[in-house]
Amino acid sequence: MCPLTQIAIRQFPCLEDNYGYLLHVPAAGLTATIDTPDVGAIGAALKREGWRLTHILNTHWHPDHAGGNLALKNEWKAKIIGPGAEADKIPGLDKAVGQGDIVELGPVALKVLDVPGHTAGHIAYWIEKEGVLFAGDTLFALGCGRLFEGTPAQMWDSLQKLMALPDETTVYCAHEYTQSNVRFALSIEPDNAALVERADEVARLRAAGKPTVPSKLGIEKKTNPFLRAKSVEIRERLQLVAADDVTVFAEVRKRKDNFR
Ligand code: ZN
Ligand code: FE
Repeated sequence: MCPLTQIAIRQFPCLEDNYGYLLHVPAAGLTATIDTPDVGAIGAALKREGWRLTHILNTHWHPDHAGGNLALKNEWKAKIIGPGAEADKIPGLDKAVGQGDIVELGPVALKVLDVPGHTAGHIAYWIEKEGVLFAGDTLFALGCGRLFEGTPAQMWDSLQKLMALPDETTVYCAHEYTQSNVRFALSIEPDNAALVERADEVARLRAAGKPTVPSKLGIEKKTNPFLRAKSVEIRERLQLVAADDVTVFAEVRKRKDNFR
């Protein structure tokens, strides 16, 4: 951890393949949970650390992200912050936020980015000073969220917004899907040397029972097929050499949906 950091992050598995995250700000005595996948696991993590839950930051309304909101709010009197565009679907929402809003946890500022596509109002939280991104179900290690409520153009736009952040940004996503993502990625860009190298690393980590999350945005840009609509190899493979980026992205997403 950077010696100048003002935050501590704890990552722990929840449910089948979700990750829970606690974001702690020691100077202010504040602790936020990013989403509420698993009340028991979040409570256990708080207890382990001796932290008091003060905030719940939702990325989107899906039950594996907001399902524990009310139980945790009742227990801790925590303030719930979440996407305004999904306000009616976020249980117990206290403060609706959207693009450009700043969520302050004491001295730590989290910038809200609208990243619709997986759901219509999905948001991400970016701590610029710490180089940290909580991406929810928008960007995964070697993957991206399914388009349940948005169009490919919307999701591509959202991913480009994330791609504009610094390469050193640490990406905390909400699921451990990397092993299946890597198989798909190799199927459409097998000659990408950075991807081949990463595939080995993912295999090694999973064999050792270790998480592949978080990752760095710079690595995602080099290896994640959903960020690589400009790749000549992918375009040739999809026979979309002259297509626009959205068309290439849409085809990659469609192929992943049907990939076994
Ligand atoms: Zn989701
Ligand atoms: Fe999810």
